[in-house]
Amino acid sequence: MNVPSLNSLSLKLLIPLVLCGAGTITLIFIVTHLQSGITREQHVRQQAIEFSESFLIATEVNSSRSSIIRTTNSLGTYQGIEEIFIIEEQSQRIIAANQNRYVGAPVSKLPEFYRSTGWEQVLRYGGSLFNRADGDNYVYAYRARILSEDKTSTVSIVILMLLTPATISTFLDEFTDAAILFSTLAFLGALFIFYLILKLTLLKRIERIVNVIEEDSDDSLPRLCPVESNDELGILVTAYNKSLISDHEHKMQLITANLELSKLSHYDPLTGVSNRRNFDRVLDDEWKRGARHQQPMALLMIDVDHFKQFNDQHGHMAGDVCLKAVAITLEQQLKRAGDLLSRYGGEEFCIILPNTADGGSIVAESCRTAIENLPIEVAPESPPVHVTISIGVAYAIPQADHPPKSLLELADKALYQAKQSGRNRVASFGAAGAEAA
Ligand code: GH3
Ligand code: MG
Ligand code: MG
Repeated sequence: MNVPSLNSLSLKLLIPLVLCGAGTITLIFIVTHLQSGITREQHVRQQAIEFSESFLIATEVNSSRSSIIRTTNSLGTYQGIEEIFIIEEQSQRIIAANQNRYVGAPVSKLPEFYRSTGWEQVLRYGGSLFNRADGDNYVYAYRARILSEDKTSTVSIVILMLLTPATISTFLDEFTDAAILFSTLAFLGALFIFYLILKLTLLKRIERIVNVIEEDSDDSLPRLCPVESNDELGILVTAYNKSLISDHEHKMQLITANLELSKLSHYDPLTGVSNRRNFDRVLDDEWKRGARHQQPMALLMIDVDHFKQFNDQHGHMAGDVCLKAVAITLEQQLKRAGDLLSRYGGEEFCIILPNTADGGSIVAESCRTAIENLPIEVAPESPPVHVTISIGVAYAIPQADHPPKSLLELADKALYQAKQSGRNRVASFGAAGAEAA
């Protein structure tokens, strides 16, 4: 699995989501805590009412004082109830309490604390009372009627209780914690589901596109990305593919243009054979190769005889035709794949014959004869004319510490000698030891 980089779209989407989540949880926390004060008081009141009701139901069912006392005694363990007194209205006495020492005592014996709470109003006028006494303590008083001991009449009683919400708070806090935990888990779950949906609908597709883009390509064809839908991503990918195709077309045009240029830089435009620049490069390469393998090479320097005169007689155009015909004919004399004919300049040609020593003279002679017999059409009505060539042949075993120029100079010397000896001939110079190789 790929570890998402800090820049990845997944993280860019996840970070605001997580921030939103954290914000939501903080909000839940603040709201719950702001409300908890109100909720706590309501809860204490509810608890008191529920307690009184359950107590009254219990007394009606059992309908005897002894059961009141029994029930009451066990009520002291109710959550959040600190003290409880059941006072009989008629006798103004405490008939049940969660502390035995108060049972049977007159109301005047109630702890000092209750004096100011106003519970006596309930004893006097009925109804109920729920008061915040001090701090977090609440007093609840409720007047009710229950059956008398002999079940023939009813008696009025007041249930008076002191509630401390400490334990209720704990319960509420636990509830709040659980609510926060639940909300957090629910949010995280929703977040995860959201992420999965995002992953399946968007991120997976983006991943596939990135994989295609990053795939190694041999550059022969553009790597198009899959268009899986026509939504925004699909539109984006289509546009990307189009730009890829257009880039590819431009690249192809550039390659073609470069090929054309390379052709121009390698070939002579008039004769179509290799030009001087290419000749220099090949001569250098072959010289080095010959030096490495200690194999001889021969160089033929060819010059068309009295070519100036030819131009003067038949015109420059006919001169061009002649140069082309000479080039084609010379080319035909080369039999090996590595042999190279180049136009050296003007009416001069050179032939490189790799792995050849004095055999170069044989090729030179065949070139000379072929040109001598080559009919050249100078004008439509005129009979064809002939030209001759003089050839200087040089051959040597190349030496790494000598430049190929030495072979060129030797061939030039040989050509000069061929010219001096009357033209239309071959003169050959071999460097010492080349023939034996
Ligand atoms: P030599 O027998 O001593 O070689 O005499 P030459 O007349 O052949 O030699 P020279 O160097 O005096 O003249 C070469 C001529 O070749 C001069 C030039 O006009 C001609 N020439 C060079 N390049 C071209 C070309 O591309 N086309 C044509 N038609 N003529 C060219
Ligand atoms: Mg010349
Ligand atoms: Mg010439």
